[in-house]
Amino acid sequence: MVDLFGQYKKISHEIDAAINKVIESSAFIKGPEVIAFQRNLAEYLDTNHAITCGNGTDALQIALMALELEPGDEVVTSPFTFIATVEAIALLGLKPVFADVCPRCFNIEAAEIEKVITGKTRVILPVHLYGQCANMDGIMEIAGKNKLKVIEDAAQALGSAYSFTGGLTKKAGTIGHIGCTSFFPSKNLGCYGDGGAMLTNDPALAEKMQAITHHGSKVKYYHDMIGVNSRLDTMQAAILDVKLRYLDKYNDARARAAEFYDRSLSGIEGLILPKRNRHSTHIFHTYTIKTGIAHRDPLREYLKEKGIPTMVYYPVPMHLQKGYSYLGHSKGDFPVSEELCHSVLSLPMHTELTEDQLEYICNSLAGYFKTI
Ligand SMILES: *Cc1c(COP(=O)(O)O)cnc(C)c1O
Repeated sequence: MVDLFGQYKKISHEIDAAINKVIESSAFIKGPEVIAFQRNLAEYLDTNHAITCGNGTDALQIALMALELEPGDEVVTSPFTFIATVEAIALLGLKPVFADVCPRCFNIEAAEIEKVITGKTRVILPVHLYGQCANMDGIMEIAGKNKLKVIEDAAQALGSAYSFTGGLTKKAGTIGHIGCTSFFPSKNLGCYGDGGAMLTNDPALAEKMQAITHHGSKVKYYHDMIGVNSRLDTMQAAILDVKLRYLDKYNDARARAAEFYDRSLSGIEGLILPKRNRHSTHIFHTYTIKTGIAHRDPLREYLKEKGIPTMVYYPVPMHLQKGYSYLGHSKGDFPVSEELCHSVLSLPMHTELTEDQLEYICNSLAGYFKTI
């Protein structure tokens, strides 16, 4: 699915030098590389503040903590996402409220959000799934009208850009009040361990989130609020600072692989290829196709026999997860998400895919559909 070693080999001199420099300085926690990476990330994204933390899940939790919500306040999000999105909400005693997704682009639908807003709704938390942005025109308008905050889960979309109807273009994670991202190794900007960040243009929120990551303190041993311990290691920051310079190139390589898939698979009946949202660029965190429900698992098995790994992101929607049954949802509540869980399939997607590999994958896929 990914080739992290192949990617490392091409820039090993730079990475090794960056790691060695951190070891020599031995500033393993809060070293200067952390500050440098935060500054460079904020500059790349054209936002005022980037605050790093331990991982993307923490980033979501810290962002929610910074908004001073009350237990029971409602956060509207997607039922078709990675669990972290919903977990952060639930952990803080807030109520995850779901709004179904668009059947073609897989992101939360603005019209569905509007239907579930109540007097207790405080936040909309869209997820930019698979690498392209949700409908931020609609989401920002609903948030403005209802005085809601917007936290973007940009863990899968770092580097993609959204163009508003008026023409303004902003990078994923810098559109709402706070954006959250992850540097998990397989993310588009991945480190060699865990890492995450919050993004904001609001200096007060930035200061608060910075304090929360550090036990709620601005001055050592004085704790103005309840915080957590969540930081990006200096070594990871040094690695990320090198890789950030390659992010656009990496995203271009993914886009080229996606175009290859598009070209080679477009003729196959029974296969639905990823739709591009015309307002967003797509950085192809995943290349996710759709099949008829009857064919997804057999196709997966067929490809596995040919040595081709695939993944199902995600097999169970959030509202039907056992750990969240207390929310009282049942099958049929979010039919689009439920159907996607049975019909999506993600093909290998990374920066090191060769044309030979892509051709083999595509020919194998075509082979399956010839057998049925
Ligand atoms: C990866 C991911 C996260 C969490 O990131 P971690 O760094 O693994 O904690 C959150 N949301 C989405 C959509 C993700 O893909």
